Amino acid sequence: MILDDIVEKIKNAKDIVILTHEIPDGDAIGSSLAMYFALKQLGKEADVIIPEFPATYSFLPGVEAIKKRSNILNYDLAIALDCSDIKRLNGFANYFENAKSKIEVDHHSSNTMFGDHNFVNPVAPACAQILVTLFEYLGVEIDKNIGTCIATGIITDTGGFKYNTVTAETFEFIAELLNKGINISDTYRKALQIVSKKKFEITKIAVNRLEFLENGKIAFTYITKEEQEKLELDVGDHEGIVEQGRDVEGVEVSIFLREEEENKYKASFRSNEYVNVSDICLMFGGGGHFHAAGCTVELPLEQAKEKLIAQTKLYLK
Ligand code: AMP
Ligand code: MN
Ligand code: MN
Repeated sequence: MILDDIVEKIKNAKDIVILTHEIPDGDAIGSSLAMYFALKQLGKEADVIIPEFPATYSFLPGVEAIKKRSNILNYDLAIALDCSDIKRLNGFANYFENAKSKIEVDHHSSNTMFGDHNFVNPVAPACAQILVTLFEYLGVEIDKNIGTCIATGIITDTGGFKYNTVTAETFEFIAELLNKGINISDTYRKALQIVSKKKFEITKIAVNRLEFLENGKIAFTYITKEEQEKLELDVGDHEGIVEQGRDVEGVEVSIFLREEEENKYKASFRSNEYVNVSDICLMFGGGGHFHAAGCTVELPLEQAKEKLIAQTKLYLK
């Protein structure tokens, strides 16, 4: 059984590296640090390698242990968390590829099963929630540190418990954390509510130029590289912009483009009801979930916009 294989690999490993996806979000960082503390409880020191992460998550326990790189080339075991595809491993796929054993724990429906042992549950609302099951199996006690990290993953990936991905176990688990004295309200505010001034400014720019297309069923906006540089944005400051369009009455699909380089845009897609945006993004080499997905398009703005919108239109009712 997969969980037995994972337990055996963890128990036998000496050097362990924990990896997650590029431009990490609360689930990516929360899951990584939860795993770090869980392994510590089992007497294992692991390296968590995340080159850059949003300052928002600096409140998480264990962030000081995060490394930007490592000198170890061949770990005994690599664990990838919240990552659907080896291409998204932060440019650090070599640590994963060179490890003797490779485990991945994930919840993306577009997961490519790139590990030797893939513990993937596409209906879990967050990778962090899958870890609860795994930790139980490993005999790890969910303490304050682990609980805060897992709660952050769940809170961020469910948009604050509001997506239809939330399950009864989500609330059962949060209730357990409350019983243990973990401050859920404080975690919620820090992980999801507080925005930096720069983030607020860039959101204003994107909201100002947001347009509604196809009878208001598509919301579209973008930010340029110049705007990002001018505001000296920190990593993750664009998070949440795509949700501005999504939340307007009548919108089914919200699209947000962020210029990464000249003629190269990272696209974020969100849908409200019936459009599977992961399918749209898969057409452009990306992926994600039914209601939240992304891809990268190497085209000038107008062409990128036209192509993405033409594809999206095919899915509208
Ligand atoms: P984002 O719009 O970047 O917040 O991403 C929304 C969801 O889609 C997240 O779950 C991402 O992990 C996933 N996603 C974003 N970009 C890609 C991509 N290029 N390939 C696969 N999944 C992606
Ligand atoms: Mn993620
Ligand atoms: Mn996730």
